[in-house]
Amino acid sequence: MNILGAMQDWEMRTSLLIDHAAREHGGREIVTQWADGSRTRTTWAGVRRDALKMVQALRRLGIAPGDRVATLAMNHGRHLVAWYGATGAGGILHTINPRLFDDQLDYIANHAGDRVLIYDAAFQALVDRMRPHWKTIEHYICFDSGEHALHFEDWIGAEDGDAEWAQGSERDPCMLCYTSGTTGHPKGVLFEHRSNMLHTYAAIMPQCLDLDARAAVLPVVPMFHANNWGFPWAAAAVGAKLVYCANNDAATLCRLMHAEGVNYLAGVPTVWLALLQHIEETGQAMPPLTRALTGGSAMPRAIIERLMRHGIRVAHAWGMTETSPIATIAFEPADYDDRDLDGQVAVKALQGKALFGIELRTVDLDDPARVLPRDGKSAGALQVRGLWVIRRYFKAEQDTADTDQWFDTGDVAMLHPDGTLQLTDRTKDVIKSGGEWISSVELENCAVAHPAVAEAAAIGIPHPKWDERPILVVVKKPGMDVTVEELRSLLAAGVAKWWLPDAIEFVDDIPHTGTGKISKKDLRERFGDYRLDV
Ligand code: AMP
Repeated sequence: MNILGAMQDWEMRTSLLIDHAAREHGGREIVTQWADGSRTRTTWAGVRRDALKMVQALRRLGIAPGDRVATLAMNHGRHLVAWYGATGAGGILHTINPRLFDDQLDYIANHAGDRVLIYDAAFQALVDRMRPHWKTIEHYICFDSGEHALHFEDWIGAEDGDAEWAQGSERDPCMLCYTSGTTGHPKGVLFEHRSNMLHTYAAIMPQCLDLDARAAVLPVVPMFHANNWGFPWAAAAVGAKLVYCANNDAATLCRLMHAEGVNYLAGVPTVWLALLQHIEETGQAMPPLTRALTGGSAMPRAIIERLMRHGIRVAHAWGMTETSPIATIAFEPADYDDRDLDGQVAVKALQGKALFGIELRTVDLDDPARVLPRDGKSAGALQVRGLWVIRRYFKAEQDTADTDQWFDTGDVAMLHPDGTLQLTDRTKDVIKSGGEWISSVELENCAVAHPAVAEAAAIGIPHPKWDERPILVVVKKPGMDVTVEELRSLLAAGVAKWWLPDAIEFVDDIPHTGTGKISKKDLRERFGDYRLDV
C-alpha cells in the first residue's frame, strides 16, 4: 500500500530566502560602494521591498514566468534586487558577462531569448553597439542612469510593492549563466529554484562557506560569474551583511573592508595575491578578515600560508558554473588541530572533499568506462554528479551528463584514499587568466590564418599574478618566415587584448597524439620549465 508523507507542502523557491532574510534579519545591511566612491545602503527588508516592486514592474511589461530577464552589471545592491525580483516574478535571471566578445554577446542574448536587459551605465557603449544585433530584447533599463534608458529606481519606484511572489514548482528554472569554458559557442547553464536552494543549504555549513549572521561578506567574484558563488542566496539564509564594491583594486577593497568591518572576502587567487601585496608594500593593517574563500583557479600554497599566518581561515573550493558552482571544499579534517602549520596548509592547498550532495569519480582518460581507484596516484578525467549538477545545457537536445548522471568536468584529477580531490590538468582547451577564460582554439585559428604558419598551439603557463597566461607555440612552413610582431598584430585584430599571448615561441615540431591531434599534455610537459618574464 502506498502511504503518503505527512509533512507540509512547500516548494523550495528562492522567494523563501528573501522572505526569511527580511523577516529574521531585516535590518542587516547591504552596502554598495560605487565607481565614484560614494556608498549607498539598504537592508534585507529593503531588498525584499524593492524586489516585490520589480515583480510588479516586470508584470506591467508583460513578463511572464519562464521569461528571461538579463543583467549586464557589476556587483551592487540593485543587482541583488534584480536577482530576487526576476526570480520572484517566476522569471529567469540571465547574468551576462560583459567581458565576452561582441559575437559571444550577440549569440548568448539571442540564444537566451532575453526580453528585458538591465545594465550599468558603464556598459552604455557596449549596449549601443550590440542593440541592433539583439533581436529579442524589448526593454532596456539602466541601473544607475536615466540618460539613455529608464532608470531602474524610477522603474520600480512607480510601484507600491504590494504584490505576491510567483508560485510554481521548485523544479522551475530561475537563473541562466553562460559558460565559455569550452570551445564553440558559450553554453547556458539553467539553474532551478531547487538546485539553488540545496546549494544554499550546503554552502552555509561550517565546513563549507561557514556563513552566519556575524559575517560581513565582500564577494569580489562578479555577480555574472557562476551564480556569484551562491552568495546572494547564502547570505540571505543566515542574515549576513553584504558589501559590494565597483572597483576591485586592492587599495579600494582594503579601505572599504576596514570601513565596513568586512570579515569575509571571496575571490579568485589573483585577488588574494593583489591584496597581500598591497598590504605588505604599504604596511597597512590587514582588514578584519577572519575568513577567506578562494576558488576558480588553483590557489598557490604560498598565498594560503600567508593568509593563514594572518590568522585567517582559508576555504579553498573547486567547482564550475555547471555545479552551481561549489562542489568540493578543503575543510579541516578530524586531525587538523594536531597538524603543524605546514600540514594545515597542505590540506588547504588541495581542492578538498565533496560536499554532502555531490559525488566524484575519476575515469581513465582513454577508456572512460574504467573507473580509477582513489589511490592518490591515478590521474584521470574528473566526473561529478549530485543535487546541484547540470544534466543538460539550455536548449540542448541531449543531456550532457551520461545515463548515470555523471558529468565530465574537463578537469584532470586524482582522488586520494580519503576522497580529497587534487586537480592536475585540464582536457578542455582553455586557459584561465585572472578568473576569465581564454580559448586556445581561437588563438590557434587566428595564428594559422598566416600563410607562413604550419601549425600553432596555445597553452597556459603559470603566472604569479594572473594564475595562467597563454603562450603560443608556432611551427613555420618550410622555407617561409614570419616574425613575432607580425603574428602579434594578426592576433590583435582577431581577439581581445587581454587574450594576446604573453610570448610566441617558434619550434620545429609540435607533439601529436596517436590520432593526430595536437597533444597539449605533451606540449605542456615540454614547456614545464618555461618561465614568463614578469
Ligand atoms: P567556471 O565554470 O568559469 O567557474 O570554471 C570552472 C573551472 O575552473 C573548473 O572546471 C576548473 O578548471 C577551474 N577551477 C575552479 N576551481 C578551481 C580550483 N580550486 N583549483 C583549480 N582549478 C579550479
